[in-house]
Amino acid sequence: MKKIVILGSGAGGTMIATKLRKELLVREWQITVIDKDPLHHYQPGWLFIPFGIYTPQECVKPKADFIPLGVDFVVDEIVNVDHDKKQVKTKLGHYDYDWLVIATGCRIVPEETDGLMDDWRGDVHDYYSLDGAMALYKRWKFFKKGRVVLNIADMPIKCPVAPLEFVYLADWFFRDNGVRDDIEIELVTPLDGAFTKPVASKVLGDVCGQKNIKITPNWAIDNVNVGKKTIESVTGDEISYDLLISIPLHSGAQTIMDSGLGDPMGFVNTDKGTLKAADFDNIYVIGDATNVPTSKSGAVAHYESDIVVENILLEIEGQAPKPEYDGHST
Ligand SMILES: Cc1cc2nc3c(=O)[nH]c(=O)nc-3n(C[C@H](O)[C@H](O)[C@H](O)COP(=O)(O)OP(=O)(O)OC[C@H]3O[C@@H](n4cnc5c(N)ncnc54)[C@H](O)[C@@H]3O)c2cc1C
Repeated sequence: MKKIVILGSGAGGTMIATKLRKELLVREWQITVIDKDPLHHYQPGWLFIPFGIYTPQECVKPKADFIPLGVDFVVDEIVNVDHDKKQVKTKLGHYDYDWLVIATGCRIVPEETDGLMDDWRGDVHDYYSLDGAMALYKRWKFFKKGRVVLNIADMPIKCPVAPLEFVYLADWFFRDNGVRDDIEIELVTPLDGAFTKPVASKVLGDVCGQKNIKITPNWAIDNVNVGKKTIESVTGDEISYDLLISIPLHSGAQTIMDSGLGDPMGFVNTDKGTLKAADFDNIYVIGDATNVPTSKSGAVAHYESDIVVENILLEIEGQAPKPEYDGHST
């Protein structure tokens, strides 16, 4: 029996398991998906929790509901990948593989920015985690006056449009609560405008102007000074806040770093056309775990999944993988 192990059953890992199982015979191929979390988190929903539009419960479902018949679903933490031995170690066991798919996503690392954790969940918040979105929901209720600053620490981030969606929703929310005139909203971004793509950036930036949302572009954060309630840039500029919403730096999974499979930020060096790990045989990568220069989004994972599955099938048949992924993201 040949073995395929999929690391992570978020959006990407679950799609790969589903599509591969349809293509490979159960009597010939064992497919195992490993994830430490039995619950699937609908991350786009986190954007709406601070505004009371979604509840936390609406953003969570059992992962097992999405795993197809004939796939072994293991709830356990991946500790290490020994690619020489072609073996994955988890807290409770180990799994040999012929082919490995890395779908461990990425995570926020607020501790990597000086001062950001000093008033975490006080006057400094995030919504790129379920806990953060829930804490911000409680904090919003008491915010009636002052400066709300949304800062993107650096790219890449998940869903690059989510910061704009957030400030538009904040404008609506404070207007709806009758306090918008007493609240300034500012988006402080390392990008040169509102968004990554020039045409969309212009249109979305104009919408910010209409909503009286200030955009401060080309801004690289150095640290947060919670005593002065300022964020400070690498060139020494300061921006004051009453409430700071941070989209912190992102990193790949710790286990990818510990296994020596990632770059210094834990993203796997991935061929952007074939989606095969550039430095390792028999490994494919999907979704937020890659270093492919496109968005980190569920939509990207969706488009990538067809290429990953096709290329694994080609390689199993002894053929070369095709460089067919074009960065498509919407
Ligand atoms: C606020 C917000 C809004 C968003 N909005 C959108 C949107 O509108 N549209 C869109 O397409 N995308 C959106 N996204 C992005 C989207 O959610 C992600 O890009 C997508 O989930 C990536 O899929 P993935 O499979 O690569 O990673 P994930 O879905 O994050 O899955 C990774 C899995 O790996 C598991 N894992 C990691 N390390 C280990 C370990 N050591 N052991 C075991 N398991 C492990 C995790 O538990 C997780 O289940 C948004 C994200 C956020 C945060």
